[in-house]
Amino acid sequence: MTQSLQAVIVGAGPAGIRAAQTLVAHGLRPIVIDESARWGGQIYRQAPRNFTRSSKKLYGFDAPKADAVLSAMDALLSKVDYRPNTLVWNAEGGQLDVLFEGSPSVIDYTDLIVATGATDRILPFKGWTLPGVFSMGGAQVALKFQGCAIGQKIVFAGTGPLLYLVAYQYAKAGANVVAVIDSSHFSQQVKAVPALLNQAMVFAKGVYYLAWLKAHGIAIHHGATPIEVKGAQSVEKLIWRNAQGEHQIDCDAVATGYGLRSESQLADILGCKFVFSNAENSWIPEKDLSGRSTLQHVYLAGDGAGIQGADAAEWAGELAGLALIEDRQLKQHVKHSTRSQALAGYLQKRMAFGHGLNMAFQDPPNWARQTTDDTVICRCEEITAGDIRQTAQSTGAQDLNRLKAMCRVGMGRCQGRMCGPAAAELLADCTQQSIVKVGRLRGQAPIKPIPFLQNPTVKTMSCDAKEDK
Ligand SMILES: Cc1cc2nc3c(=O)[nH]c(=O)nc-3n(C[C@H](O)[C@H](O)[C@H](O)COP(=O)(O)OP(=O)(O)OC[C@H]3O[C@@H](n4cnc5c(N)ncnc54)[C@H](O)[C@@H]3O)c2cc1C
Repeated sequence: MTQSLQAVIVGAGPAGIRAAQTLVAHGLRPIVIDESARWGGQIYRQAPRNFTRSSKKLYGFDAPKADAVLSAMDALLSKVDYRPNTLVWNAEGGQLDVLFEGSPSVIDYTDLIVATGATDRILPFKGWTLPGVFSMGGAQVALKFQGCAIGQKIVFAGTGPLLYLVAYQYAKAGANVVAVIDSSHFSQQVKAVPALLNQAMVFAKGVYYLAWLKAHGIAIHHGATPIEVKGAQSVEKLIWRNAQGEHQIDCDAVATGYGLRSESQLADILGCKFVFSNAENSWIPEKDLSGRSTLQHVYLAGDGAGIQGADAAEWAGELAGLALIEDRQLKQHVKHSTRSQALAGYLQKRMAFGHGLNMAFQDPPNWARQTTDDTVICRCEEITAGDIRQTAQSTGAQDLNRLKAMCRVGMGRCQGRMCGPAAAELLADCTQQSIVKVGRLRGQAPIKPIPFLQNPTVKTMSCDAKEDK
């Protein structure tokens, strides 16, 4: 065992767990940090300990994979320093600032694997801040973690694989799913089939969810966009549009999301270089196929460095672990091992599948142009689409950080995690620039909301990104 080396893994999802397993297999005892109470990450999120739903009920077709990943971590518990309920909110110079049950502390590392996963990508529409509107992932967390539905009459609107999966999970659990509104056209999805066949089993599951929803009489509208949620106090109806015109559905809850975006704030604050991914239409931290970031001894794995899905997250976690072992020369024979090559091969095949997903699930055409001025974009700071357009025009802001400084979009508690992609689309549209040109919001600590810290002996940071003003 190398005494001077302290490996830390942030994230105990499929990527973080496989990375930990790899490090332990090579004689290390990594610290594994996760803000959740139990390991598993998003897809294999575990129910609270006193809940008794079976693995099959929680994870459906993915139950065998969930069991494999969850039991792998269970077997590692005595061999790693596992820190659940621990949020990493800042990082600098070989140290992570963490918060555990309200107490701040600092964790030193020499080697870091960032496996922080993803969150929903939101394209706002009028009324999306009304009670009863949830992000797609949030709706799934309610069902998976707490065993409850978000409403009595639910519409699922947006696009992406989670749209059909979560609608299916709700309907299967007995909830009243009144419609699925998908911005993608069915013809696009058919065209994507050859690329989707690169992961035939995953593709087959998607087809099954769609067929199941149809067979159970649930209305599915393709090429359709939500335009307004109406209600006095909470959701009462959804107005949506397709080529035939405007329509409305009575409902008391709406789940919305347009795919996922990488939770890349930690990589950002560490100083990793970012690149624009055309496939994902967003900025992601740069890495090589083994997960090496542009910083020495900092590795990136899983959805936090580009959306690839749960299987790929497992492979990427193992690869990042092997890269760390190779870089520290802990085992000479790891270099170019057949295992690393096989994992890299799986990941490349998964990229072809990802290309199919991007073809199959597309944003509403002209989303930015069609969004009305009174639509709230940044809910933390209550900045509307009109505020963004007006600021861009009056100040000449061409860059997203400049726009933030001038009108506070993305400056609130979520630090642009929710509104960043939409603000970028709007700025690109109203300044007639490409989405690449408007740039990306710079990461700021705290990377996720934290309470005001009470212990004055530990260094603290303002919760507001004032340096941007
Ligand atoms: C809400 C949601 C639901 C999803 N459901 C499904 C599904 O049902 N089926 C499916 O195929 N795919 C689903 N996905 C996609 C799937 O989760 C991912 O492909 C897969 O889980 C990626 O694994 P990962 O290890 O990269 O990240 P994750 O599984 O997301 O794990 C990342 C972990 O990092 C932790 N973390 C993040 N930031 C910090 C921090 N600053 N400090 C401490 N801990 C941190 C998180 O708590 C999390 O446990 C879902 C994604 C989301 C966002």
